[in-house]
Amino acid sequence: MTVRIAVTGAAGRMGRILIEAVSLNDDCELTAAIERPESSLLGADAGELAGLGKNGVAIVGDVASVLEDFDVLIDFTVPAATLANAKACGAAGKGMVIGTTGFNQEQKIELEAAIAPIAICQASNFSTGVNLCFKLLDMAAKVLGDDVDVEIVEAHHRHKIDAPSGTALSMGHVVADALGRDLEKVAVYGREGQTGARERDTIGFATVRGGDVVGDHTVMFCAEGERVEITHKASSRMSFGRGAVRAAAWVSAQSAGRYDMQDVLGLK
Ligand code: NAP
Repeated sequence: MTVRIAVTGAAGRMGRILIEAVSLNDDCELTAAIERPESSLLGADAGELAGLGKNGVAIVGDVASVLEDFDVLIDFTVPAATLANAKACGAAGKGMVIGTTGFNQEQKIELEAAIAPIAICQASNFSTGVNLCFKLLDMAAKVLGDDVDVEIVEAHHRHKIDAPSGTALSMGHVVADALGRDLEKVAVYGREGQTGARERDTIGFATVRGGDVVGDHTVMFCAEGERVEITHKASSRMSFGRGAVRAAAWVSAQSAGRYDMQDVLGLK
């Protein structure tokens, strides 16, 4: 059965890619597209907006008005909008795929409560390659253990509004969990001035912002005499789009619960 998909943030960088990715997936069909209520694009054709030609789906200004029209909502917007959408989908029993990053602690707790009744897949990065890297990082951290210093460097385009990236933080969590450390306690976000010598237990994060970089992540395991680096480079947002649509099709067949891309790819 075809899965009916709604895309919110439809005019955004990821929104347009998601509309195209849905059109490329034989199991899914775009049946709703949403933007901000104040958007000048309300009423525009979603297919045209994504550069695909007309698909007959007009952009609307809120999720509530199209709740009957979709099975799964894909949401790559901003935390406040995703929270409001999660409350609407939670109440209506609609599944969600959440790609938005940058939630604060309070928003994370609110989100958890809103999505309790439904199936959702949330991931800081929907690309297959990055999710494979999570698996490799777990293995590397377990083999290299406490003999190495771990540093994470990420680079993104100049428009990205949160740092470090959600993917870099997820990579930090994978390594910290494998080493039995609490990332909240050992993370060091940037260094400046007289920082003193490095403490072995810390996990350092460095952020680069510029141009049109889609997303680069490198985790360095630095020992005396050698260094292992695990790097992922995204060259197109379609890597996230394809993964998110695959996740939406998967979510439509799941019972209520919180899932991630590792579940979708069977990597757990
Ligand atoms: P973007 O180009 O700014 O797109 C966000 C879109 O959401 C914009 O069109 C924005 O409209 C719209 N929006 C804001 N409030 C809304 C609301 N209340 N209802 C509906 N739409 C609303 O950003 P992006 O690069 O696509 O990234 C979006 C999010 O996805 C970010 O959090 C980013 O970090 C994340 N992301 C995740 C992954 C992953 O794999 N998990 C990959 C890439 C990006 P206006 O511009 O009019 O405000």
